[in-house]
Amino acid sequence: MLDRVTDHRSLPRISTSLVVKAVLAVYWSRLGSLNALGMTRSAKFWNTWLGRPLCSADSLGRIVASVDAATLRQGIHHVYERLKRNKALPDLQGLAVAVLDGHETSASYRRCCDGCLKRIMGNGQIQFYHRNVTLMLLCGSPPGRPAVRLLLDLELQRAGEGELTTALRLLERVLEAYPRAFDVLLADALYAVAPFMNFLWSHGKAALVVLKDERRDAYQDARGLWVQQPPQLGSYQARRCRWWDFHDLRSWPEVQGVTRVVRSEESWTVKRQLTQQATPQIANWIWLTTLSVTQARTEQIVRLAHLRWDIENQGFNELVNGWHAGHVYRHQSGAIECFLLLAFLAYNLFHAFFALNLKPELRRGRTMAFCVRLIAAEIHAVPRFALPHAPP
Ligand SMILES: [Zn+2]
Repeated sequence: MLDRVTDHRSLPRISTSLVVKAVLAVYWSRLGSLNALGMTRSAKFWNTWLGRPLCSADSLGRIVASVDAATLRQGIHHVYERLKRNKALPDLQGLAVAVLDGHETSASYRRCCDGCLKRIMGNGQIQFYHRNVTLMLLCGSPPGRPAVRLLLDLELQRAGEGELTTALRLLERVLEAYPRAFDVLLADALYAVAPFMNFLWSHGKAALVVLKDERRDAYQDARGLWVQQPPQLGSYQARRCRWWDFHDLRSWPEVQGVTRVVRSEESWTVKRQLTQQATPQIANWIWLTTLSVTQARTEQIVRLAHLRWDIENQGFNELVNGWHAGHVYRHQSGAIECFLLLAFLAYNLFHAFFALNLKPELRRGRTMAFCVRLIAAEIHAVPRFALPHAPP
């Protein structure tokens, strides 16, 4: 996989695969910056892992900026394909599920590049930032193993365009590369719009999105119905639920096909730490979907819809806080894209290794954080009196 990653340099002295391997190790050990990497250059690890000494942090950043992003995407695809063939990515509740979301990776008042988006803040200052739309595959658990989630692809949002345009560009590419990877796509309320629903419908995929906008025809329609219909009783985790499910709605003329609205009123209690008093909580969720009743029962819809937060909790939050993927390793659009794709590759390989490769008895009683420390310890094993290498 690594040998197939290429870049746009004409006379490379350092191979692309060496740079890719070094950056993967930066993520796996959660070093957090190329400067931190520079401090570990005399560690024995690098010679073993790369087969030669590590290049300078500056060369590394420069080379990643020139990597052909398409070849990194092929690398991610290769990992997906191998896992799929090994039956490591089973369906979730009988469906192949993916989730899509927009995410801001960095913001600055001082530094900007050609690809920066701009906004005027309350104090009148211009802030520069980068955003992308990411697609994550959610899977069930293989027997006796934890579930693996894969970050499949991302698309950078361009200046002057809305998130929806970016998302549709991402989906065009993803559906071509992964035509059978998912049947249903989860997304937030921003995506409860006809162009998104129709795009998926025309590609034979279903949508399951949050419905918030009370102006939408589907919302108005459903609201008229749920005052008349008695709810189904159910549960989600420790919550007691009342569910309403309205299918075969045809009141949204811009949307092709039939839509369905599911509402879940969820109640539970929270014990306050200070007073030890149980406080009742209630939440109301409304979702819009093109999944038919035969494809998913009400209960399945509710469980699937709640998985939408996986991309934030297990995806973005883990990448930013755990993997330092929000760090701008080199401020340039191409570099930001390639560093993120490398973070996705590192994330997918690490999670697949932890869940599927480690023997259960080795995994038992040890957390992922423990594995990360083991990797980091090897990289930080710098001989005490080692002199820094001369940069290549
Ligand atoms: Zn920028």
